[in-house]
Amino acid sequence: MMTKSMAEMPSNFIRDIIDADNAGGKHGGRVHTRFPPEPNGYLHIGHAKSICLNFGLALQYDGLCNLRFDDTNPTKEEVEYVEAIQEDVRWLGFDWDDRLFYASDYFEQLYRFAEELISAGKAYVCDLTAEEVRQMRGTLTESGRESPYRRRSAEENQDLFQRMKAGEFPDGTRTLRAKIDMASPNLNMRDPVLYRILHAEHHRTGDTWCIYPMYDYAHPLSDALERITHSICTLEFEDHRPLYDWCLDNLSVPYKPQQIEFARLNMTYTVMSKRKLLRLVQEGLVGGWDDPRMPTIAGMRRRGYPPEAIRNFCERIGVAKVPSTVDFALLEHCVREYLNRHAPRVMAVLEPLRVVLTNYPEEKIEWFEAENNPEDASAGTRLIPFSRELYIEQDDFQEDPPKKFFRLAPGKEVRLKHAYIIRCDGVRKDPSSGQIIELRCTADLESRGIDIPASRSVKVTCHWVSAAHAVPAQVRLYEKLFLKENPEEVESGDFKDNLNPSSLKVLSGCLVEPSLQKAKPTERYQFMRQGYFYLDPGSSPGLPVFNRTVGMKDTWAKISQQATTIKQS
Ligand code: ATP
Ligand code: MG
Repeated sequence: MMTKSMAEMPSNFIRDIIDADNAGGKHGGRVHTRFPPEPNGYLHIGHAKSICLNFGLALQYDGLCNLRFDDTNPTKEEVEYVEAIQEDVRWLGFDWDDRLFYASDYFEQLYRFAEELISAGKAYVCDLTAEEVRQMRGTLTESGRESPYRRRSAEENQDLFQRMKAGEFPDGTRTLRAKIDMASPNLNMRDPVLYRILHAEHHRTGDTWCIYPMYDYAHPLSDALERITHSICTLEFEDHRPLYDWCLDNLSVPYKPQQIEFARLNMTYTVMSKRKLLRLVQEGLVGGWDDPRMPTIAGMRRRGYPPEAIRNFCERIGVAKVPSTVDFALLEHCVREYLNRHAPRVMAVLEPLRVVLTNYPEEKIEWFEAENNPEDASAGTRLIPFSRELYIEQDDFQEDPPKKFFRLAPGKEVRLKHAYIIRCDGVRKDPSSGQIIELRCTADLESRGIDIPASRSVKVTCHWVSAAHAVPAQVRLYEKLFLKENPEEVESGDFKDNLNPSSLKVLSGCLVEPSLQKAKPTERYQFMRQGYFYLDPGSSPGLPVFNRTVGMKDTWAKISQQATTIKQS
């Protein structure tokens, strides 16, 4: 679980606001935030930013953070999403204690508030269609036109609103609108719709309601009922703030929270809208919401991203008022950095090539002790078996190598990790295909654990597994889901045209060292020279499946180094 010290983040403009509030005694020094997802999809990395921010602030200021479902749109919302969201927030390391709320818990109170507005002459039932409302709304340069229903008496409005609630009218025939100002320069203030008729079953309230409050009305009031102090949302809602405040100022609410906006997270090679992610799922373009290529929290979890790395990423990107796009490589860098410190090293051969050590006795097995993590002495050691028949990576051998190829070739030597130096004496080929099926090699049985003399050119250390002991496995390698830095950039068509057709590569016939027989989906491993891997939770005990979390090569380090060089020159 997160502790306060873990949540110590650098300052940002929101903390400055809170510090000033606390200094001036506003909110009585309290900090109470909320994370308000709509259960219409799985959470993504953008939501992680909001979660870390809201729960993080609560931790830093000894305050509280609620989890509140904004479930005011029954046609798009599902229980599956409600459950997935809770699992994801918990997995990220945050806890709402007993403060799990739903906007739908407040439907009755929101209805009473609407009656209050009607009595005060501040809301009216409007019979215009959605299209007519849109047409009369005006533009940024032109005022809107008042609805002919705007002058209805409070009594008539009360009666009609009650009948809307009672189900007398079909969908879309009437709305309840706030009576504010059709000439307001802010379009959100031009008599916005507060309630609409929708004869739809709600996942929590069933068919109790056939009118549903709009987000801009439900949100400030839910915040007020929960006595939220700082209601943090993304920049698109800046123009909605006057309406947020109008709702609070015109109703007898128990509290007046303040809305603060920050720039949402955008990331290269990533789409960050639930609507678009839903299309990828529904059209079968990915394996589901938790496909490891998805930018969802569930996808990242299944891919093997540690929650600590995601939190660290959110901390590093910080919070700002100005929109920007973060490099996907930074997220991968955070993952790699964490795993480098924590992941035990193991050997796994993804595309095996058989090696026979002709000078090694047939029945002999040696067990070599290997360190689990050179970055962490407390990670201990394990034993790995060595024998006459081994597998190395196909890539590590070339029969006719170019000049700078330092791996194995006929007459050349390499070091086997934790074991001997071997020399390739010859190859065996499949007589029909001509394919190399086996390398005939000699081991230098004196060479284990000694420094290689300068006279001998052994430049590469290869990973390997013992043929008799290796465990068969499947490995899934992932590339970026989109080919373009900005997936929305298309000449015609849509973002799906930019999907990377080779974002998933499945390798079967991989061979992993026997210690991985006990691999658990709570552990992440470094497959030496291949990257970091995570046991897919869908693996069967007979055939483990490993997802590559991230490769070894740190493109972020390169990018930031280039940036420094440019700055210096
Ligand atoms: P999307 O646009 O992806 O569908 P949303 O904003 O509709 O997301 P909500 O469920 O309403 O999704 O979001 C819950 C909270 O997460 C909101 O407070 C929202 O501001 C925040 N949030 C959503 N996307 C991002 C993002 N990309 N970066 C930061 N915060 C985000
Ligand atoms: Mg939303």
